[in-house]
Amino acid sequence: MRMKFYVEGSLRKGTAFLEVREDERTINRVAKFLEKQNQIKTEQFESILRYVTTQDQCKSSLLLAYFGETTKTDCGICSYCIGKSRLQDSFPVKEAIKAELEKGPKNSRTLEEKLNYPKEEIIFALREMLDNDYIRLDLNNTYTLKK
Ligand SMILES: [Zn+2]
Repeated sequence: MRMKFYVEGSLRKGTAFLEVREDERTINRVAKFLEKQNQIKTEQFESILRYVTTQDQCKSSLLLAYFGETTKTDCGICSYCIGKSRLQDSFPVKEAIKAELEKGPKNSRTLEEKLNYPKEEIIFALREMLDNDYIRLDLNNTYTLKK
């Protein structure tokens, strides 16, 4: 903060600084503090980004790792763990779909009729197979195996 004042006894106008003027040394001290703060914020942001974008690790173990702890067992209830168990469950469904599609293209209703699995499991498996590029969906809603 800067204040204008008049020195008593003279009419000389002057300027006084109520706070220590920042010289190179004080600025450097502040700059170092700000750099450290910046680094901490960057690391925190990267941790959140890692938590959100990591697809191949249990979310609970990621959280534990953030707080410096490790675990060898997955929690079984996070999005990763649920996705993994659904994926394992859907393996036989996928095999059955693959076997049906090897005989020729089929729509989902025909697959539901031919396969002895709940509709939801078949739809889930089909979506997974589409995502993984194993099959393609034609304009007339038939699924075909990709070679
Ligand atoms: Zn988990």
